[in-house]
Amino acid sequence: MLFDLLERLSSLTRVWFREHPKLSDLQPIQLSALMYLGRCNRYSNTPLAVTEYLGLTKGTVSQSLKALESKGLLIKTQDTRDKRSVHLELTAPARELLDAVTPPDFLLSAARRMGARSQDLEGLLLELLRNIQQGENVPSFGLCRTCRFHQTVEGGAFCGLTQEPLEPIEVDLICREHALPETTGD
Ligand code: SF4
Repeated sequence: MLFDLLERLSSLTRVWFREHPKLSDLQPIQLSALMYLGRCNRYSNTPLAVTEYLGLTKGTVSQSLKALESKGLLIKTQDTRDKRSVHLELTAPARELLDAVTPPDFLLSAARRMGARSQDLEGLLLELLRNIQQGENVPSFGLCRTCRFHQTVEGGAFCGLTQEPLEPIEVDLICREHALPETTGD
């Protein structure tokens, strides 16, 4: 039953995106890559991280990233410290496009009609996702502010893993290095 519901919801979402007039020029995988890059932080905007997040082959992702680049939706920049490493930045038109199409209108309207119960549902779905991630040992790609390494140093956000300060906006982005807090086990 749970699986049927999730499958139906993801199918509705796929159809909604496919039929959206602003998205007629984008393949589903290209849209997924854009959505990921719109949500991830500076440690996670690499081709490898996109590949890991989408769970697809390097070749498929690489072709999609090239297509997005040629459409003017993303640009590649070199890492300032590691010249072999590349970062993928969304362009202003890409951010405008994402703002216009996400979250899908049908989902926003339904959540509005459900009122406070939609927040309960969000909490339960997060619990489900965390359970799956812990049980299957898959990367969490979670929100920075919920990470085990997230710290406050001199009043500002700080990453205990990279030992770098974080911008306020970054604490609400997702991260490839995210690790769930350790449970006490009792
Ligand atoms: S605190 Fe965690 S989620 Fe945030 S940047 Fe560091 S490793 Fe990533």
